[in-house]
Parts: sequence; structure tokens; C-alpha cells
Amino acid sequence: MASADASNRQWRFARECLQELDRALGRLAGRPRGLILRTGDAVRVLEQIHQTHGIAALWAHQEVGNDWTFQRDRAVRCWARERGVPFHEIPQDGVIRGLQSREGWRDHWDAEMRRPLVPEPPELQVAPLPSDPLPESVGDDACPLAQRGGRSRGLALLRSFLSHRVRSYARGLSSPLTAPSACSRLSPYLTYGALSLREVVQATRRAIEQASSDPKFAGRLRSLQAFEARLSWRSHFVQRLESLPSIEFEPMHPALANDRTQVDPALFEAWAQGRTGYPFVDACMRMLHATGWLNFRMRAMLTAFACYHLWQPWRAVGLHLARLFVDYEPGIHWSQIQMQAGCTGISAFRIYNVVKQSHDQDPTGAFIRRWVPELARVPAAWIHEPYRMPPELQRQYGCVIGVDYPAPIVAHELTARAARQKLFEAYRTPEAKAISEQLLQRHSSRSRREPRHAPARAQQLGLFDPS
Ligand SMILES: Cc1cc2nc3c(=O)[nH]c(=O)nc-3n(C[C@H](O)[C@H](O)[C@H](O)COP(=O)(O)OP(=O)(O)OC[C@H]3O[C@@H](n4cnc5c(N)ncnc54)[C@H](O)[C@@H]3O)c2cc1C
Repeated sequence: MASADASNRQWRFARECLQELDRALGRLAGRPRGLILRTGDAVRVLEQIHQTHGIAALWAHQEVGNDWTFQRDRAVRCWARERGVPFHEIPQDGVIRGLQSREGWRDHWDAEMRRPLVPEPPELQVAPLPSDPLPESVGDDACPLAQRGGRSRGLALLRSFLSHRVRSYARGLSSPLTAPSACSRLSPYLTYGALSLREVVQATRRAIEQASSDPKFAGRLRSLQAFEARLSWRSHFVQRLESLPSIEFEPMHPALANDRTQVDPALFEAWAQGRTGYPFVDACMRMLHATGWLNFRMRAMLTAFACYHLWQPWRAVGLHLARLFVDYEPGIHWSQIQMQAGCTGISAFRIYNVVKQSHDQDPTGAFIRRWVPELARVPAAWIHEPYRMPPELQRQYGCVIGVDYPAPIVAHELTARAARQKLFEAYRTPEAKAISEQLLQRHSSRSRREPRHAPARAQQLGLFDPS
């Protein structure tokens, strides 16, 4: 695999999208298949096609991917220039290449989202060239319950979400029990371009109009607005990576750059495999292994637990999660990892109390029992902190701590307190605050009409969010 953040589960999803695209293009061309696929180094493949057939022009979407895709595109641009082949890259999702200031960015995004959709052509001509087969797999990452790819599945999810599932969105998105059906689940379809952000935004705006004008649908207005906001955050974070590609490798704010540099193999592996001794944390990690998806709050909690309670390096944590996410999108991912790990200096430090989250989001323990079968017989009274059970109860419920299920790898309240203190020390100096202010000026999005948002300024002061 070409990149440390790539995995077979991601490839499988992309492959299913390509297969459906192949059939759809074939239908327009009056043939069984419509894609001509070549695999291998992009420049070598292009050179070979150019030598044999001559390339008149290249057209591609403008990708804000990771450093690997950036270097590939740079090599292709260089090759095209040398060969005199015009290379057209079409901007995506309101993201502006090379943008330095966010002034007016939000208005630009809105205008982009309002542009009419490009209609499907009535027919297509496909050159009669041979095609490589799509690789079956690129690794042995099973992920048995991952979402399946393809535009038709994405469209079906969009329809079911806007027509009825959205009703439970706002109240259902925080708990991993309700989130899998309450959230749209569109993320991998957006990541791989099986659905366009513009078509999803436009469909959402139509639903918002309906909910605003028809009392029958008024109850879903708040959820629809919350959903639309997230669609704009998507571009906001991709734009951040476009403007600051270093965030894939370096912390946005240097305050903690020389801290948390070493992986502790025992702590890291326990977290990565869902064996920390904290049932709710382990259940989230195991669900992610099996399904390739987790809701926002639980992604944030897993990151925060690794980077604060276990004090592990954010980049190693981010790479592990990236490979597990079927919807891995570098722009959202690296921004969020840095935010949840306390590396940006412009967002609140949210150190989750993992036991409180367990009580709040999974009161009966049903979620834990599903993903941590060692605890299947433990009753609700003990399920959130099974290490507190007296030994006779541990035996009675078939879960002896240290034998059937691990003891906690750290004392979560103590390590949270230590992390809070380190963050406070690192970000309180005048130099650190000045850097935060500069970052805020450059990377918070604002419209020409609105000044910078007040909560962002509060966050800039390093206020702790008591989650
Ligand atoms: C540490 C961390 C890493 C993340 N990595 C990714 C990633 O690699 N790919 C990814 O798509 N999302 C990522 N997210 C954001 C979010 O968790 C997922 O987008 C969401 O859970 C996907 O499920 P959904 O499509 O049902 O979301 P919905 O709640 O239905 O949201 C609809 C869409 O809005 C966008 N969106 C939602 N939340 C956010 C957000 N906070 N920031 C930016 N865009 C958002 C996504 O495109 C999503 O598909 C990450 C969050 C955290 C905390």
C-alpha cells in the first residue's frame, strides 16, 4: 500500500464505487463497461498512453488529499507541462487552492453550493482501449460490517435520511447506540465522490425549505440545520489542510511539539486493540475495527483518551484511526485529530471523562455488552467500571479482572488531571497566546458580513470544555 494512512477497507469501498461507475458509464456508452482502468505509477501510466495514443488534454478533480496524493499530482503536473499536455483540475466543494486568508470564504462556499448541478450527458463515447482489472484487495484488513460502496447506496441513504431518519438526528448523534441509524452515514460516499457535496447540500436546503413552510415537517428543522452546518464544516476543514498541508505531520501550534513524542508500545497497543480496561472506550474501538465507522463524539473521545489520558503522540494515534475509518478524509481527519489532541491552540481542550461518557451514552450497558463480550453477563450497576466489582461478583458474572478482561491501564482521573495541567502550562505563556491569535486570524472561516465568532475567541484563551 502506498501510504501509511491507507487500508484495505478503504480500498474495498472505493472499488465498489468504481465498479458501479464502470457499469453506469457503460450504459451511457452502450457497452457493458465504461471505465478504462490502468494501475501503476501515474506518470509512467500517462507516458505509456501518450506514447501509444497521444493525450490531447488531462482533466481531473482538484484533490485535497494527503501528502502522497499531493506529490503524485505535482509529478503529473510537471509531466504534463514537459509534454505540452494541458492539465485541467476542477476545484471541489468550495475549497480554494493555495488560499491564504479566510476573509469572505464562507460567502464563496455558499455561492459554490448554490451553483446548478452538472446534468448527466445523454450518451458517451468511450475509446476502444484495453483496461486493467481492479485489484481485489490491497491488504488483509477484514472489516466484516463495513458500509458498502456505490452511488446508488449513497443516494438511498441520502433519501432515507432526509425523508425520515433526520427526525432523530439532533438527539441521536451523540450516543453510539443511536448514531449508526440517526446519522446520515454519507461520509464515505462524500469521501470517495460517489455523491457530490453540492448535491447533498442542495437536497438538504430543499428539505429545510419544506420544514420551514410546512408545519407537518417543522419538527425536523433543527436537525436539518445541524446537518447542513456539518456539511459546511467538511469544506472548512478540507480548506484548512489545503492552506496548511503541514498539519498532516506537524502540530498547528508548537506549544506541545517537543512533548508526547514517544509511543509507549504497551499503552498504545492496549488502546489500539480495545483492551484498556475501560469498557466504553474498548467497545468504541472494537466497533470501529468491525464496522469502519464511529460517530463524532466517540471518535473524539478515543483520540482524547489516547492523547491526554495515555499521553501518546497525536500522529501515531491519527494514523491508526485513519486506517480504521472507511470514510478517511485527510482534511477533516488531521484537523480533528489535532483539535481533539490539544495541538491547535485555537479550540477548547476537551478531556472526556470516559466513565461519565459511558453512563451518559450507554446507560444500560447494551452497547458495551455487544462489543465487549467478556462483559456480557455483567449487570448495568457494574458494567461501566467492572474493576470495582468485588472478587466474588467478578467470578459470579464470569469476568475476573486481569484474567477475562484487563484492569484499567491508567487511573483515568489522575492522568486527565495531569494532562490538564500540562496543557495549561504549555498554552498560558504570552508567546503561546500570540501564536494562537495568529492561527485564529488565518484559519477560522468568516463571511464578509460577520465578524469572527465569539466562542472561537473564548476557545483561543484555552478554556477547558468540561465534557
Ligand atoms: C478524531 C476525528 C477524526 C475524524 N475523521 C474523519 C474522517 O476521516 N472523515 C470524515 O468524513 N469525518 C471525520 N470525522 C468527522 C465525523 O466524525 C464524521 O464525518 C461523521 O461521524 C461521519 O458520519 P456521518 O456521515 O453519518 O455524519 P453526519 O453527522 O451525518 O454528517 C454529515 C457529513 O458532514 C461532515 N461532517 C460531520 N461532522 C463533521 C465534522 N465534525 N467536521 C467536518 N465534517 C463533518 C461529513 O462529511 C459527514 O459525512 C472525524 C471526527 C473526529 C473527532
